[in-house]
Amino acid sequence: MFNFLRQVSNYTKETIQAARYIGQGLSVTFDHLNRRPVTVQYPYEKLIPSERFRGRIHFEYDKCIACEVCVRVCPINLPVVDWEYNAKTKKKQLNHYSIDFGVCIFCGNCVEFCPTNCLSFTEEYEMAVYDRHELNMDNVALGRLPYKVTEDPMVTPLRELAYLPKGVMDPHDLPASARRAGKFPSEILAEQKVEEKQERSPSA
Ligand code: SF4
Ligand code: SF4
Repeated sequence: MFNFLRQVSNYTKETIQAARYIGQGLSVTFDHLNRRPVTVQYPYEKLIPSERFRGRIHFEYDKCIACEVCVRVCPINLPVVDWEYNAKTKKKQLNHYSIDFGVCIFCGNCVEFCPTNCLSFTEEYEMAVYDRHELNMDNVALGRLPYKVTEDPMVTPLRELAYLPKGVMDPHDLPASARRAGKFPSEILAEQKVEEKQERSPSA
């Protein structure tokens, strides 16, 4: 008899606990019923990557001087710079250049330290392949510029959180004139230039 009563008591406690958990879960659901959906319907809609997005690296063959700085600053010595000495010009001559994006950690050291700025980040992030060896890109593949989200006629570009006006969370149906919260990098640079000018000639 005592055992039976204990079982009933335990069962009741568990039922109450379960009902409380269900209530908690449903309260979140009901809370979202009042909100507008912010889901991005990829691939028909895509978020515009931020200015400092570190996507696939772009390489300009003609600018490369085969100095191998990119290899030395890379934490995994990843870029492969294949060059030979040209006795005529007495300079290094670049034959091939490649980066394996299956291994790259997109740290940006090579882009940062390249003395001729022949490396730069693009906004390309769609790099899914069936064979990881396809991610090993040579200088031809690296020289290709990706389609910009804002220029792709098949895609509706949406502003990501950093580009939205203050207090706005939903990028859909936003008028093009709506200003983002904060300043554009170009505005910050322009302000810096004005400040520098004023510092150089305080009387002006
Ligand atoms: S650092 Fe720049 S210039 Fe030097 S080898 Fe690398 S990509 Fe070429
Ligand atoms: S982004 Fe970083 S890991 Fe990738 S190649 Fe450049 S230095 Fe190496």
